[in-house]
Amino acid sequence: MAGKYLIEPDSEFIKVINQEGGDSLKKCFQCATCSVVCPISPDNKPFPRKEMIAASWGLKDRLVTSHDIWLCHQCGDCSTLCPRGAKPGDVLAAIRAYAIREYATPKFFGELINDPKKLPVLFIIPTIIFIVLGLVTGLLNFKPGGDEIVHSHFFSTWLVDLIFIPLAGWVVAIFALGLKRFIGDIHENALSSGKTKKEKIDPAGFVQALVKIIPTILKHDKFTECTENRERSTSHMMVLYSFIGLFIVTNIFFVVLYVFGIHGPYSQLNPVKWLANIAGVALVIGSAMMIKDRISKTDQVSSYKDWYLLGLVFGLGVTGLTTEMTRLADAAFLSYTFYFIHLIFVFNLFAFLPFSKLAHLVYRTVALTYDEYSERDKKEPAV
Ligand code: SF4
Ligand code: SF4
Repeated sequence: MAGKYLIEPDSEFIKVINQEGGDSLKKCFQCATCSVVCPISPDNKPFPRKEMIAASWGLKDRLVTSHDIWLCHQCGDCSTLCPRGAKPGDVLAAIRAYAIREYATPKFFGELINDPKKLPVLFIIPTIIFIVLGLVTGLLNFKPGGDEIVHSHFFSTWLVDLIFIPLAGWVVAIFALGLKRFIGDIHENALSSGKTKKEKIDPAGFVQALVKIIPTILKHDKFTECTENRERSTSHMMVLYSFIGLFIVTNIFFVVLYVFGIHGPYSQLNPVKWLANIAGVALVIGSAMMIKDRISKTDQVSSYKDWYLLGLVFGLGVTGLTTEMTRLADAAFLSYTFYFIHLIFVFNLFAFLPFSKLAHLVYRTVALTYDEYSERDKKEPAV
């Protein structure tokens, strides 16, 4: 006799998925074309057909704890070829957004970041923190003076570190808590649904899988397998590499300052400065390409979360470059103003990273690693 499965539909979940871009769900008649055409769907328990039916039944727990939703990178091939005009790619994107909210605590921040009416609050919070902390410590000087524009004379490096080092700790702690649950959940889900035969997660094996998957992520191999939106890989890679470049630059300047005591501004001939400038330009161009792509793809659902993140990344790049350009043009007031705004963008990007769509960087990496580790499509040896 077939095993019984108790279905506990969550109608609230269906409502949210519908609201957040998954409203084509009801058109699905389970033909499975999407699972066949998806270029990255595995043979063992392919997606996204099973996710379409689970979502329409409101099986929240089954979906949110499945690592399959993270393997999809929304190329749109399945949506284009669906004979019913359903959009599985958008449905999976809506489920991922829901999953990010489920795993990131405190939930209050998730609500804050996903509500367009609260957007001003996201900018007021860092402004107040910067001004209050700056004035209390005396590390914020609204009249820096001097012949040369030096941003740290206005907004001290100590103040930057006083704010951003605890912020980095906050982000790591929230991700650590979320990922602990996430990894446990996806493993349990994979075991119960027959996607893996491995009973336990072996940390050494998991790290090996991570090392194996990194080149795939860096080369965007999965992206280039799709047909419909293949060109998106270029802008996506530009943004990814610019973040990597800026991360390297920030760390080098941090070490140079605290180990060797060398302060900025640095010469434009400095190779690290070149890297910073190239990464900044790539960030602006890559995010502008993404915005253009979203605007032109009228058949693809774009939610507030998508626009919020794109606006933030674009704003981050533009304010960074204008800070630099106005400094070189000797426009002190403008340069200090853009620097202040730039720091607000940086704060927003980092402080709310675990709650925003950008968290996919972390969850997708872990899901891809888990998929590699799980040996999902491994055939049993012939006996
Ligand atoms: S989403 Fe479309 S292609 Fe996929 S199973 Fe449903 S009807 Fe078929
Ligand atoms: S959007 Fe692309 S990757 Fe995602 S399920 Fe559809 S075909 Fe597969």
